[in-house]
Amino acid sequence: MTRKHNFSAGPAALPEAVLDVAQKELMDWQGNGLSIMEMSHRSKEFIAVAETAEQDLRDLLSIPDNYKVIFLQGGATAQFGLIPLNLLGDKTKADYINTGVWSKKAIKEAQKFCDVNVVASSEADNFTTLPAQADLKLDPEAAYVHYTPNETIGGLEFDYIPETGDVPLVADFSSNILSRPLDVSKFGMIYAGAQKNIGPAGLVVVIIREDLLGQCTDSAPTMCNYTVHAEADSMLNTPPTFGWYLAGLVFKWLKEQGGLDAISALNQRKAAKLYDYIDNSGFYSNPVAKNGRSWMNVPFTLADDSLDKVFLAGAEDAGLLNLKGHRSVGGMRASIYNAVPESSVDALIAYMKRFAAEHT
Ligand code: PMP
Repeated sequence: MTRKHNFSAGPAALPEAVLDVAQKELMDWQGNGLSIMEMSHRSKEFIAVAETAEQDLRDLLSIPDNYKVIFLQGGATAQFGLIPLNLLGDKTKADYINTGVWSKKAIKEAQKFCDVNVVASSEADNFTTLPAQADLKLDPEAAYVHYTPNETIGGLEFDYIPETGDVPLVADFSSNILSRPLDVSKFGMIYAGAQKNIGPAGLVVVIIREDLLGQCTDSAPTMCNYTVHAEADSMLNTPPTFGWYLAGLVFKWLKEQGGLDAISALNQRKAAKLYDYIDNSGFYSNPVAKNGRSWMNVPFTLADDSLDKVFLAGAEDAGLLNLKGHRSVGGMRASIYNAVPESSVDALIAYMKRFAAEHT
Protein backbone atom coordinates (compact mmCIF):
# COMPACT_ATOMS: atom_id res chain seq x y z
CA MET A 1 0.00 0.00 0.00
CA THR A 2 1.28 3.46 -0.91
CA ARG A 3 -0.43 6.47 0.61
CA LYS A 4 0.09 9.59 -1.50
CA HIS A 5 0.56 13.20 -0.44
CA ASN A 6 -2.96 14.64 -0.20
CA PHE A 7 -3.40 18.43 -0.46
CA SER A 8 -7.20 18.31 -0.82
CA ALA A 9 -9.15 21.31 0.51
CA GLY A 10 -11.87 19.04 1.83
CA PRO A 11 -12.80 16.31 2.33
CA ALA A 12 -9.16 16.33 3.30
CA ALA A 13 -6.36 14.12 4.58
CA LEU A 14 -7.01 12.25 7.83
CA PRO A 15 -4.22 11.14 10.17
CA GLU A 16 -2.93 7.74 9.09
CA ALA A 17 -2.92 6.56 12.69
CA VAL A 18 -6.65 7.32 12.89
CA LEU A 19 -7.44 5.42 9.70
CA ASP A 20 -5.44 2.55 11.05
CA VAL A 21 -7.47 2.34 14.27
CA ALA A 22 -10.74 2.70 12.32
CA GLN A 23 -9.67 -0.13 10.02
CA LYS A 24 -8.74 -2.41 12.91
CA GLU A 25 -12.02 -1.68 14.69
CA LEU A 26 -14.25 -1.79 11.63
CA MET A 27 -15.51 -5.36 11.80
CA ASP A 28 -15.57 -5.72 15.55
CA TRP A 29 -15.59 -2.57 17.64
CA GLN A 30 -13.80 -3.26 20.93
CA GLY A 31 -14.87 -6.88 21.18
CA ASN A 32 -18.60 -6.16 20.83
CA GLY A 33 -18.88 -8.30 17.71
CA LEU A 34 -20.22 -5.53 15.48
CA SER A 35 -19.07 -2.31 13.90
CA ILE A 36 -19.64 1.06 15.58
CA MET A 37 -21.66 1.92 12.46
CA GLU A 38 -24.11 -0.88 13.20
CA MET A 39 -24.92 0.14 16.75
CA SER A 40 -27.80 2.18 18.10
CA HIS A 41 -26.87 5.80 18.73
CA ARG A 42 -28.69 5.38 22.04
CA SER A 43 -26.63 2.38 23.16
CA LYS A 44 -24.43 2.96 26.17
CA GLU A 45 -21.41 2.08 24.02
CA PHE A 46 -22.07 4.78 21.43
CA ILE A 47 -23.08 7.36 24.04
CA ALA A 48 -19.70 6.81 25.69
CA VAL A 49 -17.96 7.36 22.34
CA ALA A 50 -19.96 10.56 21.77
CA GLU A 51 -19.35 11.92 25.27
CA THR A 52 -15.63 11.18 25.12
CA ALA A 53 -15.36 12.94 21.76
CA GLU A 54 -17.06 16.02 23.18
CA GLN A 55 -14.87 16.01 26.28
CA ASP A 56 -11.69 15.67 24.21
CA LEU A 57 -12.77 18.58 22.01
CA ARG A 58 -13.52 20.61 25.14
CA ASP A 59 -10.06 19.78 26.51
CA LEU A 60 -8.29 20.65 23.24
CA LEU A 61 -9.97 24.05 22.87
CA SER A 62 -10.37 24.72 26.63
CA ILE A 63 -14.06 25.35 25.99
CA PRO A 64 -15.57 27.13 29.01
CA ASP A 65 -18.43 25.42 30.89
CA ASN A 66 -20.99 28.01 29.80
CA TYR A 67 -20.72 26.83 26.18
CA LYS A 68 -22.66 23.96 24.63
CA VAL A 69 -21.04 21.74 22.02
CA ILE A 70 -23.49 20.41 19.43
CA PHE A 71 -22.80 17.81 16.72
CA LEU A 72 -25.07 18.38 13.72
CA GLN A 73 -25.52 17.62 10.03
CA GLY A 74 -26.02 19.89 7.04
CA GLY A 75 -22.46 21.15 6.89
CA ALA A 76 -21.32 24.69 7.50
CA THR A 77 -23.66 25.73 4.71
CA ALA A 78 -26.77 24.86 6.73
CA GLN A 79 -25.48 27.07 9.56
CA PHE A 80 -25.43 30.08 7.20
CA GLY A 81 -29.25 30.05 7.47
CA LEU A 82 -29.56 28.63 10.98
CA ILE A 83 -27.47 31.42 12.49
CA PRO A 84 -29.98 34.21 11.79
CA LEU A 85 -32.91 31.90 12.68
CA ASN A 86 -31.34 31.16 16.06
CA LEU A 87 -29.57 34.37 16.95
CA LEU A 88 -31.64 37.31 15.72
CA GLY A 89 -34.05 37.15 18.67
CA ASP A 90 -36.09 40.34 18.54
CA LYS A 91 -33.48 42.13 16.42
CA THR A 92 -33.65 42.61 12.68
CA LYS A 93 -30.09 43.20 11.59
CA ALA A 94 -26.68 41.57 11.70
CA ASP A 95 -23.14 42.65 10.82
CA TYR A 96 -20.99 40.62 8.42
CA ILE A 97 -17.33 40.96 7.44
CA ASN A 98 -16.73 40.01 3.81
CA THR A 99 -13.33 38.46 3.13
CA GLY A 100 -14.06 35.98 0.36
CA VAL A 101 -16.22 33.30 -1.22
CA TRP A 102 -17.42 31.73 2.06
CA SER A 103 -18.20 35.07 3.70
CA LYS A 104 -20.26 35.96 0.66
CA LYS A 105 -22.24 32.74 0.82
CA ALA A 106 -22.97 33.35 4.51
CA ILE A 107 -24.07 36.90 3.70
CA LYS A 108 -26.33 35.83 0.86
CA GLU A 109 -28.11 33.28 3.01
CA ALA A 110 -28.51 35.66 5.97
CA GLN A 111 -30.07 38.26 3.66
CA LYS A 112 -33.10 35.96 3.41
CA PHE A 113 -33.76 36.50 7.12
CA CYS A 114 -32.47 39.92 8.14
CA ASP A 115 -30.84 43.19 7.14
CA VAL A 116 -27.19 42.43 6.59
CA ASN A 117 -24.69 45.22 7.07
CA VAL A 118 -21.37 44.44 5.46
CA VAL A 119 -19.17 46.20 7.98
CA ALA A 120 -15.93 45.73 6.03
CA SER A 121 -14.95 44.06 2.78
CA SER A 122 -11.71 43.27 1.03
CA GLU A 123 -13.45 42.52 -2.25
CA ALA A 124 -11.98 45.61 -3.94
CA ASP A 125 -8.51 44.09 -3.72
CA ASN A 126 -9.73 40.65 -4.71
CA PHE A 127 -9.74 39.40 -1.12
CA THR A 128 -5.99 39.55 -0.68
CA THR A 129 -5.98 41.74 2.44
CA LEU A 130 -7.60 41.70 5.88
CA PRO A 131 -9.79 44.54 7.06
CA ALA A 132 -8.24 46.10 10.18
CA GLN A 133 -10.18 46.36 13.44
CA ALA A 134 -10.39 50.14 12.92
CA ASP A 135 -12.08 49.58 9.54
CA LEU A 136 -15.02 47.62 10.98
CA LYS A 137 -18.09 49.86 10.95
CA LEU A 138 -19.87 47.92 13.67
CA ASP A 139 -23.47 48.60 14.66
CA PRO A 140 -24.13 48.22 18.41
CA GLU A 141 -27.75 47.27 17.56
CA ALA A 142 -26.73 44.27 15.44
CA ALA A 143 -27.84 40.86 16.74
CA TYR A 144 -24.35 39.46 16.06
CA VAL A 145 -21.19 39.97 13.99
CA HIS A 146 -20.25 37.16 11.59
CA TYR A 147 -16.88 36.55 9.99
CA THR A 148 -14.82 33.80 8.36
CA PRO A 149 -11.49 33.47 10.19
CA ASN A 150 -10.02 31.43 7.33
CA GLU A 151 -11.17 31.74 3.74
CA THR A 152 -10.44 28.29 2.34
CA ILE A 153 -10.44 29.34 -1.32
CA GLY A 154 -8.56 32.64 -1.14
CA GLY A 155 -6.14 31.47 1.56
CA LEU A 156 -6.84 34.55 3.69
CA GLU A 157 -6.70 34.03 7.47
CA PHE A 158 -7.35 36.57 10.21
CA ASP A 159 -4.37 37.25 12.46
CA TYR A 160 -6.64 38.80 15.09
CA ILE A 161 -10.04 38.21 16.67
CA PRO A 162 -12.39 41.11 15.93
CA GLU A 163 -13.41 43.09 19.01
CA THR A 164 -17.20 43.50 18.95
CA GLY A 165 -18.03 44.79 22.43
CA ASP A 166 -21.34 43.38 23.71
CA VAL A 167 -22.44 42.11 20.30
CA PRO A 168 -21.81 38.33 20.04
CA LEU A 169 -19.12 37.30 17.57
CA VAL A 170 -19.98 34.33 15.31
CA ALA A 171 -17.23 32.61 13.34
CA ASP A 172 -17.04 30.02 10.57
CA PHE A 173 -13.95 28.07 11.59
CA SER A 174 -14.55 25.28 9.03
CA SER A 175 -11.04 25.33 7.63
CA ASN A 176 -8.90 26.35 10.60
CA ILE A 177 -10.50 25.00 13.76
CA LEU A 178 -7.98 23.09 15.92
CA SER A 179 -5.04 24.42 13.90
CA ARG A 180 -3.86 26.55 16.83
CA PRO A 181 -5.04 27.50 20.33
CA LEU A 182 -8.16 29.66 20.46
CA ASP A 183 -9.76 31.78 23.17
CA VAL A 184 -13.32 30.47 22.84
CA SER A 185 -14.58 32.96 25.43
CA LYS A 186 -14.23 35.74 22.85
CA PHE A 187 -16.99 34.18 20.73
CA GLY A 188 -20.75 33.87 20.97
CA MET A 189 -20.67 30.97 18.55
CA ILE A 190 -18.11 28.98 16.59
CA TYR A 191 -19.00 26.46 13.90
CA ALA A 192 -17.02 24.20 11.63
CA GLY A 193 -17.76 21.54 9.03
CA ALA A 194 -15.81 18.43 9.92
CA GLN A 195 -14.14 17.52 6.66
CA LYS A 196 -10.89 19.44 7.12
CA ASN A 197 -9.47 19.32 10.64
CA ILE A 198 -12.12 17.27 12.45
CA GLY A 199 -12.97 14.12 10.53
CA PRO A 200 -14.94 12.90 7.53
CA ALA A 201 -17.69 14.93 5.85
CA GLY A 202 -21.20 14.68 7.26
CA LEU A 203 -20.73 16.27 10.65
CA VAL A 204 -20.62 19.91 11.72
CA VAL A 205 -19.65 21.13 15.16
CA VAL A 206 -21.37 24.13 16.78
CA ILE A 207 -19.96 25.65 19.97
CA ILE A 208 -22.41 28.17 21.39
CA ARG A 209 -22.57 30.30 24.53
CA GLU A 210 -25.55 29.20 26.61
CA ASP A 211 -27.12 32.64 26.98
CA LEU A 212 -27.57 32.76 23.18
CA LEU A 213 -29.83 29.72 23.21
CA GLY A 214 -33.60 29.97 23.57
CA GLN A 215 -34.11 32.64 20.90
CA CYS A 216 -34.85 30.52 17.83
CA THR A 217 -37.76 31.75 15.79
CA ASP A 218 -40.89 29.66 16.48
CA SER A 219 -41.57 28.98 12.83
CA ALA A 220 -38.20 27.28 12.27
CA PRO A 221 -38.23 23.51 11.73
CA THR A 222 -37.26 21.68 14.93
CA MET A 223 -34.12 20.35 13.22
CA CYS A 224 -32.97 23.96 12.78
CA ASN A 225 -33.23 24.86 16.47
CA TYR A 226 -29.87 24.85 18.30
CA THR A 227 -31.63 24.91 21.68
CA VAL A 228 -33.51 21.69 20.97
CA HIS A 229 -30.31 20.00 19.78
CA ALA A 230 -28.41 21.18 22.85
CA GLU A 231 -31.14 19.93 25.18
CA ALA A 232 -31.17 16.56 23.40
CA ASP A 233 -27.35 16.23 23.64
CA SER A 234 -27.24 16.23 19.80
CA MET A 235 -29.40 13.08 19.76
CA LEU A 236 -32.70 14.62 18.69
CA ASN A 237 -32.64 12.19 15.80
CA THR A 238 -30.05 9.74 14.50
CA PRO A 239 -26.71 11.54 14.35
CA PRO A 240 -23.95 10.64 11.86
CA THR A 241 -22.47 8.08 14.22
CA PHE A 242 -19.48 6.95 12.19
CA GLY A 243 -18.35 10.53 11.58
CA TRP A 244 -18.73 11.34 15.26
CA TYR A 245 -16.66 8.27 16.20
CA LEU A 246 -13.94 9.21 13.70
CA ALA A 247 -13.91 12.80 14.95
CA GLY A 248 -13.34 11.35 18.42
CA LEU A 249 -10.35 9.40 17.12
CA VAL A 250 -8.96 12.58 15.53
CA PHE A 251 -9.33 14.46 18.83
CA LYS A 252 -7.47 11.67 20.67
CA TRP A 253 -4.75 11.76 18.00
CA LEU A 254 -4.42 15.53 18.40
CA LYS A 255 -4.01 15.14 22.14
CA GLU A 256 -1.30 12.54 21.53
CA GLN A 257 0.49 15.00 19.25
CA GLY A 258 0.72 17.38 22.21
CA GLY A 259 -2.52 19.32 21.69
CA LEU A 260 -2.97 22.65 19.97
CA ASP A 261 0.31 24.23 21.10
CA ALA A 262 2.28 21.46 19.43
CA ILE A 263 0.17 21.26 16.27
CA SER A 264 0.24 25.04 15.97
CA ALA A 265 4.06 25.11 16.01
CA LEU A 266 4.11 22.42 13.33
CA ASN A 267 1.47 24.17 11.21
CA GLN A 268 3.34 27.44 11.40
CA ARG A 269 6.57 25.75 10.31
CA LYS A 270 4.88 23.93 7.41
CA ALA A 271 3.25 27.12 6.13
CA ALA A 272 6.36 29.27 6.58
CA LYS A 273 8.47 26.82 4.56
CA LEU A 274 6.03 26.82 1.68
CA TYR A 275 5.49 30.60 1.59
CA ASP A 276 9.25 31.22 1.87
CA TYR A 277 9.92 28.97 -1.06
CA ILE A 278 7.10 30.53 -3.16
CA ASP A 279 8.24 34.10 -2.40
CA ASN A 280 11.88 33.40 -3.25
CA SER A 281 11.28 31.13 -6.23
CA GLY A 282 10.94 33.82 -8.90
CA PHE A 283 8.54 31.35 -10.56
CA TYR A 284 5.55 30.93 -8.25
CA SER A 285 3.60 33.60 -6.43
CA ASN A 286 0.99 34.06 -3.74
CA PRO A 287 -1.01 37.32 -3.82
CA VAL A 288 -2.11 37.50 -0.18
CA ALA A 289 -0.78 40.22 2.17
CA LYS A 290 1.76 38.68 4.56
CA ASN A 291 -0.31 39.24 7.73
CA GLY A 292 -3.31 37.50 6.16
CA ARG A 293 -1.68 34.38 4.80
CA SER A 294 -3.46 31.19 5.78
CA TRP A 295 -1.56 28.43 7.56
CA MET A 296 -4.05 25.91 6.18
CA ASN A 297 -4.69 26.81 2.52
CA VAL A 298 -1.84 28.09 0.37
CA PRO A 299 -2.93 29.23 -3.10
CA PHE A 300 -0.21 29.92 -5.65
CA THR A 301 0.13 30.65 -9.34
CA LEU A 302 2.81 29.75 -11.86
CA ALA A 303 4.66 32.44 -13.79
CA ASP A 304 2.99 31.16 -16.95
CA ASP A 305 -0.51 29.72 -16.51
CA SER A 306 -0.25 27.75 -19.75
CA LEU A 307 1.97 25.41 -17.69
CA ASP A 308 -0.77 24.67 -15.13
CA LYS A 309 -1.86 21.39 -16.73
CA VAL A 310 1.71 20.14 -17.08
CA PHE A 311 2.40 21.09 -13.46
CA LEU A 312 -0.65 19.18 -12.21
CA ALA A 313 0.06 16.10 -14.32
CA GLY A 314 3.68 16.00 -13.10
CA ALA A 315 2.51 16.47 -9.53
CA GLU A 316 0.19 13.48 -9.80
CA ASP A 317 3.01 11.38 -11.21
CA ALA A 318 5.09 12.39 -8.20
CA GLY A 319 2.27 11.29 -5.83
CA LEU A 320 1.15 14.84 -4.99
CA LEU A 321 -2.64 14.94 -5.22
CA ASN A 322 -5.37 17.59 -5.32
CA LEU A 323 -3.27 20.69 -5.98
CA LYS A 324 -5.65 22.28 -8.48
CA GLY A 325 -6.94 25.65 -7.23
CA HIS A 326 -10.65 26.24 -6.77
CA ARG A 327 -12.49 26.72 -10.06
CA SER A 328 -13.38 30.31 -9.07
CA VAL A 329 -9.75 31.47 -8.75
CA GLY A 330 -7.69 29.04 -10.83
CA GLY A 331 -3.99 28.36 -10.24
CA MET A 332 -2.96 25.94 -7.52
CA ARG A 333 -3.82 25.47 -3.89
CA ALA A 334 -2.05 23.31 -1.35
CA SER A 335 -4.22 22.62 1.70
CA ILE A 336 -1.95 21.65 4.55
CA TYR A 337 -4.29 20.83 7.41
CA ASN A 338 -3.26 19.20 10.70
CA ALA A 339 -3.15 15.71 9.19
CA VAL A 340 -0.83 16.67 6.32
CA PRO A 341 2.66 15.78 7.56
CA GLU A 342 5.65 18.07 7.16
CA SER A 343 7.16 15.44 4.86
CA SER A 344 4.32 16.10 2.38
CA VAL A 345 5.17 19.81 2.36
CA ASP A 346 8.84 18.91 1.80
CA ALA A 347 7.87 16.64 -1.10
CA LEU A 348 5.77 19.42 -2.63
CA ILE A 349 8.56 21.98 -2.39
CA ALA A 350 11.04 19.52 -3.93
CA TYR A 351 8.68 18.95 -6.86
CA MET A 352 8.04 22.70 -7.29
CA LYS A 353 11.80 23.29 -7.41
CA ARG A 354 12.33 20.61 -10.04
CA PHE A 355 9.44 21.91 -12.11
CA ALA A 356 10.65 25.52 -11.97
CA ALA A 357 14.17 24.49 -12.98
CA GLU A 358 12.82 22.55 -15.97
CA HIS A 359 10.62 25.40 -17.15
CA THR A 360 12.81 28.50 -16.83
N1 PMP B 1 -17.17 27.63 5.12
C1 PMP B 1 -15.89 27.41 4.79
C2 PMP B 1 -14.83 28.33 5.32
C3 PMP B 1 -15.56 26.30 3.99
O1 PMP B 1 -14.28 26.07 3.66
C4 PMP B 1 -16.57 25.44 3.53
C5 PMP B 1 -16.28 24.20 2.69
N2 PMP B 1 -15.20 24.20 1.94
C6 PMP B 1 -17.89 25.74 3.87
C7 PMP B 1 -18.15 26.83 4.68
C8 PMP B 1 -19.02 24.87 3.41
O2 PMP B 1 -18.98 23.70 4.12
P1 PMP B 1 -19.98 22.48 3.86
O3 PMP B 1 -19.65 21.94 2.52
O4 PMP B 1 -19.65 21.58 5.01
O5 PMP B 1 -21.35 23.02 3.94
